[in-house]
Amino acid sequence: MSRCLECGYDLGGSGRGDRCPECGTKSTDIELTGGLAGVGALSARPAARIAIAAAALLVIPLTLLILARLVDARDSVHATLREISYFTQAFALLAGAYLCVLVGRMLPAELPWRRMLWIVMAVRIAGACALLGFALTSVVPTAVVAELQVVLAADLLFALAVSRIAPTGGLSRASAVPAYTAVAGAGYGMVLTHLPLAYDPSGIASGVMQSGAVGAVACAIALWRIKRELHAN
Ligand SMILES: [Zn+2]
Repeated sequence: MSRCLECGYDLGGSGRGDRCPECGTKSTDIELTGGLAGVGALSARPAARIAIAAAALLVIPLTLLILARLVDARDSVHATLREISYFTQAFALLAGAYLCVLVGRMLPAELPWRRMLWIVMAVRIAGACALLGFALTSVVPTAVVAELQVVLAADLLFALAVSRIAPTGGLSRASAVPAYTAVAGAGYGMVLTHLPLAYDPSGIASGVMQSGAVGAVACAIALWRIKRELHAN
């Protein structure tokens, strides 16, 4: 069974590369397998878009915070930016929780990664709640700091799941490099607390690694490449 990537119409037995009778879109030439052979392929486009939005929500405030530090901005500027970053990070985590559903659909049903993604989703929702709680009430800062490692561990599991989409879905390995970069980024962020960088006097590089931004950008690139491969026609 294959479905139209645009409208989801069940193409049934019609051959690869045929036009959808419903919307006229040419179906992909790739023989899709696993979750991508079913409704999962329809998740590729929204997953790529949401992943890019989530990455932007992490990267933009982080860039502004780094700039503020580099130009030695006033304390009030730092405080405001930090306040904003709690909210954007929380929204990035909620977007990431929804991404777990979309990525799960793109994987074969029997794969353990699919169940693992539910755990990732729970961690991301809990992380978002903790951050929003902190931003709104200014309490439990230590809990938020401790939760950072758990969120990075969840990022690592998520990146591993993303790395399984292409091989189990019948796609090329084009998305593998960014997916494994995301795995490495999350893993390195986790060990940084115990294994500090040799040269990082300002703490900026460690902050970037621990923010999860590296993994988010790499996952967005991986999901974008998967989407591009599916919608090549
Ligand atoms: Zn169609």
